[in-house]
Amino acid sequence: MSGYQPRLDDIMFTLTHVAGLEEVSKLEGLQHADPETVGTILEEAGRFFSEVMAPLNEVGDQQGSVLAEDGAVKTPDGFREAYSKYISSGWAGAHLPEKWGGGGLPYLVGVVIEEMFKTANMAFSLAAMLTHGAVEALERHGSEEMKASYIEKLVNGEWAGTMNLTEPEAGSDVGALRTKAVKQDDGTYRLFGTKIFITWGDQDLTENILHLVLARTPDAPAGTRGISMFLVPKYLLDEHGEPGERNDLKVVSLEHKLGIHASPTCVISYGDAGQGAVGYLVGDEQEGMRNMFTMMNMARVGVGMEGVAIGERAYQHALRFARERVQGRLVGAKARESVPIIEHPDVRRMLLTMKSYTEAMRSLLYVTAAEGDHLSRAETEERRELASDRLALLTPIVKAWCTDVGVEMASLGVQVHGGMGYVEETGAAQFLRDSRIAPIYEGTNGIQAIDLVLRKVPMGNGAVVGGVIGEMNDELATMEDYEDLALFREELATAIQGLAESTTWLGERLVEGDIQSALAGATPYLRQFGIVLGGWLMARSAVAAIGAPPEFEPSFLAEKVATARFYGEQLLPTANGLVPAVKGGAALLDSVTF
Ligand SMILES: Cc1cc2nc3c(=O)[nH]c(=O)nc-3n(C[C@H](O)[C@H](O)[C@H](O)COP(=O)(O)OP(=O)(O)OC[C@H]3O[C@@H](n4cnc5c(N)ncnc54)[C@H](O)[C@@H]3O)c2cc1C
Repeated sequence: MSGYQPRLDDIMFTLTHVAGLEEVSKLEGLQHADPETVGTILEEAGRFFSEVMAPLNEVGDQQGSVLAEDGAVKTPDGFREAYSKYISSGWAGAHLPEKWGGGGLPYLVGVVIEEMFKTANMAFSLAAMLTHGAVEALERHGSEEMKASYIEKLVNGEWAGTMNLTEPEAGSDVGALRTKAVKQDDGTYRLFGTKIFITWGDQDLTENILHLVLARTPDAPAGTRGISMFLVPKYLLDEHGEPGERNDLKVVSLEHKLGIHASPTCVISYGDAGQGAVGYLVGDEQEGMRNMFTMMNMARVGVGMEGVAIGERAYQHALRFARERVQGRLVGAKARESVPIIEHPDVRRMLLTMKSYTEAMRSLLYVTAAEGDHLSRAETEERRELASDRLALLTPIVKAWCTDVGVEMASLGVQVHGGMGYVEETGAAQFLRDSRIAPIYEGTNGIQAIDLVLRKVPMGNGAVVGGVIGEMNDELATMEDYEDLALFREELATAIQGLAESTTWLGERLVEGDIQSALAGATPYLRQFGIVLGGWLMARSAVAAIGAPPEFEPSFLAEKVATARFYGEQLLPTANGLVPAVKGGAALLDSVTF
């Protein structure tokens, strides 16, 4: 089993030369987050996550969290101690607002810290991700009293948050949920119902757990319109604001899963004892779905990050193995000795594919996260609007493209290990098992593709997607002067053209009302979009690296150019291979009776 070493050079390069950290650090309230300070903070974060969280990844997988006889969830050995270090060292709220006790770093930097947590220990990191989402939801939609009572403890990590949407009959179709919320004379509600698949729905790490629960008031309309959001604490607060009486909710069982064993996935029953679980309305009645989207959008970027994280971890793991494993002679070489497998071209191709995709995904993740900071802090309304549109467009792509590719990279990692990858002892298999959930939760990747095609592409009558494609085309001009990038440039131009044509084709289907054909092409379109976005940002990386910024080692920059070129010349061309599937229409799919 190997460790994790954050690749700070690639992280800092991507922050500064691809995602515009400097611009972000000029935003109101973020001036302290200049690149040098951020570099120092991330070095510290990298040390913490690689030394404290990464060593628990394997024990978390083997032991898993368990439901004890007393009905409480127990986390694997070492998790409690590590969590208490996590909160005492301030990483829990590093990017959250200072007024609630957070560190006030940009969201962009928070994303890097979270990426490190996920790379070190994906299952453990989910507890933090949902807590961050709960802070955002309460800040945006909670009453002043609610904020004063709960946010600070969430920010410092003493309490945790969860997100409760799913029910046995309500998965992708959240509007089908049945959990009931009945209003009481004192203005509180009593909740009755069962939620399934609740990540970190119980644990022994924090003193209290705040469940954000979607439920339906008795006379609410059917579907998503009738849903409200409630804050349901595990322990109700006493007169001092401390956890007191136990609320009427309990964990009925834990799911047995393919991966992320340390993350307890709970079935929670609300109101089982009869009186109902006490809940407090967040925002207004019947606005729950909209308000939950605050949490879900953040979580979608957070899940997309898991693709980057798993890609990185699987790559590092495979690289180490490939340097050590000796097998086979080099074809055509005079020497008769066997060589480390890293010398075989096919193994090098696998490793470079993993490195290249991971760096492309990281670029897309950071560029998207930077828009989050512009959205909350840009000076002009115009820039904030642009950020809002970009975030809306890119979020489903970050979620779905990065997680699909993350699974493929984890699978390639197993392949590099040969048979030793398929057996459990090297750890490569864990990354593949852990990665597999990411395309499923937070809205399956199929649902993300539908969101992209039906809601995001039509934004501003196509102007939002058109703006991004326009910027991609601008990148071509920056590549013109470099002979080494000539082929990459040609491939990028072709790929952008292909994306523009697919977008137009889908737009025409929507205008014609041929929704089934548009939906039939949604998943390959999202994939095409992701690959081309990756190409655009890897082109930006290549141009910046050729410019030889002095703060990076020449060897790192040379490798960056090579990695970007590999993406541009050998991975990017696959984007246009998806066009027939995008434009294939629904007829062929409908012609099979199954
Ligand atoms: C480990 C784990 C952790 C989870 N954590 C949480 C959590 O913390 N909180 C929470 O609320 N939920 C959580 N979930 C639930 C998760 O978000 C759902 O599983 C997911 O949204 C899919 O719902 P489903 O499982 O009911 O699948 P279904 O909705 O039944 O989907 C099955 C398949 O049909 C497709 N499909 C469904 N509807 C459509 C449609 N309209 N058009 C096209 N295709 C469609 C889907 O893409 C999928 O491929 C978790 C799930 C797991 C497994």
